[in-house]
Formats: sequence, structure tokens, C-alpha cells
Amino acid sequence: MKNLNPPLTPHLKKEGESRVAYKGRFAPSPTGPLHFGSLITAVASYCDAKAQHGQWIVRIEDTDIPRIYPNSEQHILQCLDAFEFESDVEIIYQRNRLDIYDAVIEQLKQKKLVYACECTRKMLGSNHIYVGTCRKKNLDFQDQAIRVKVSDQALCFDDRLQGQHCSNLSTDLGDFVLKRRDGIINYQLAVVVDDYLQGMTHVVRGADLLDNTERQIWLGQLLGYPQLEYMHLPLAMNDQGQKLSKQNLAHALDIHNAPQLLAQAITALGQHAVDLDQPHKMLAQAVSQWDIQKIPKGTEIHGIFE
Ligand code: GLU
Repeated sequence: MKNLNPPLTPHLKKEGESRVAYKGRFAPSPTGPLHFGSLITAVASYCDAKAQHGQWIVRIEDTDIPRIYPNSEQHILQCLDAFEFESDVEIIYQRNRLDIYDAVIEQLKQKKLVYACECTRKMLGSNHIYVGTCRKKNLDFQDQAIRVKVSDQALCFDDRLQGQHCSNLSTDLGDFVLKRRDGIINYQLAVVVDDYLQGMTHVVRGADLLDNTERQIWLGQLLGYPQLEYMHLPLAMNDQGQKLSKQNLAHALDIHNAPQLLAQAITALGQHAVDLDQPHKMLAQAVSQWDIQKIPKGTEIHGIFE
């Protein structure tokens, strides 16, 4: 499959086009309250952008409506406020952009890069890598999942922290879903389209998303989008050796303890300590001291994290 140039999305206007060399983002999903691991991602993405005189943008990734957790969107906004993070452009909400994602799917359909799939999770069983059963069936798209075709080839990228990371698209990942049978737009599609339309240049996020990156680069290539720079951060682990996550009920960030938590997150990232002060001053100090060489190596950070 070939790179399609120029971008398949020319009629979709890129937002906030500007000349900054670095545009990064913090893109939480409101599937639970923000926790200490989310704070590490917010701090690192912010400091990395600001240390390079770039823009930092918040985007709420809320296409998976059934998984939205009550009040978590509100908690995200309260945290941004309490930790004094300011998005350089107005926050966007992906649930308001479903027509944009549908338009991109339409373009992919016309190029025959996607197909309708009737396989249910039950039919796939424990087989997590889709073998392309429906590829040749030519099913009608109505009420079916939509999958994008991948080629049988290796795709590698150089992560700024994790080094080279490679996957074979068909044997490691398989054709993947862009839109579910229930009409929900998958994260993989929304993230690629919005990173492009918002003019992102850099992605800084947790290492739990490393294995999604080749999928996203592939989709970006099919759409003719420029490739981003990636940095996948080690994940904060709890005292039982599990990553802090909404699934294992990591504590919600306590907005009344913002300076202390911020200081802890900066130190967890291996950076020089900052003076306890108002959060925006602490962030400014962290930006001036930001050094990615100091971020712990590997994909896990161990410590006493709440
Ligand atoms: N929305 C994703 C999450 O909360 C992060 C997406 C990304 O940074 O690419 O896990």
C-alpha cells in the first residue's frame, strides 16, 4: 500500500495554523479521574513543549461515550485549573467532531483502504490479531465495524526516550477497527486526525501507548499526514508493581494538594527539584530546568505513588 500524497484531508481546514516549530498536547480520556500517572504525562508534555518555545494544547478524547466516567471531565478541568496548566488554544472535545472523523472514513472508503467487518469479539475469541477474515467479503458498511487494511511489512520509528520500536503491521497488529459496529469512533482514528488537523508536531505520552504508535503512523501514512516525533514516558507503578491506572483504581489527583503533587511528579521524572510555590511558578522553574536525559530509562518508574 502506498503513501497517498497530498493529504487525503485537504478540505478539512487545519486549525490554528501557525509557525511554531513545536506543538504538543495533553489528551486525556474522561474514562476516570486524573491520577498521578496522568500528572506525569501532563508535566512532561508541558515542559517539553515550553522548553522548546512551543505550544501546549489540551484535547479531551471522549469519543467512547459508553466508557465516559461520571464527572471525570469536570475533574480534568478542575485539575488543569488547580495545577495552573493553561492550554494555548481552546480545549477541543472529540465528541463534537464526529462528522470530521466520518469524512475521513469516507475518504478511506473511496480509496478502498477500509472494509466492513461483521466479526464480533466472540467470533474472534482469544485471537487478538485480526487475520483479515472479512477483507474479501465486500460487506455493506451499514451497521458493521470498519477496519483499515495493513500491509505485511515492518514499521519502525525512533522514540526519543525508548529508542527504535518496530512492529510487523500484519503479524503483530492486524487490520484494526476505526469505527465500531455501534458507531463509536475508535481512539486510533480520532487521535491521528486531530493531531494532524491541530498541527501537532510532538507526542509525549505514557509507554502504555507505545504499541499503538505503529498503527497511528500507518494510518497517518495512508492519509498522507506528516509523521510526528514521539516520546513515550515510563509509567508510574504502584507498590504492587501495577501501573497506576483508572482500571486499578489509582487515587484521583487531590486538587487541594496541587503544589506537593506537582513537586513529586517533577522529581519522578528525574528532574531537578523545584521550590514549593504556586503551581505556575513551579512549572516555570521545571521548564527552565527540563532535561530529557534525566528522565528514568525504561518503561516503568517505581516509587511510593498514590
Ligand atoms: N486519550 C489517551 C488516554 O487518555 C491518550 C492519547 C494520546 O496521548 O495519544 O490514554
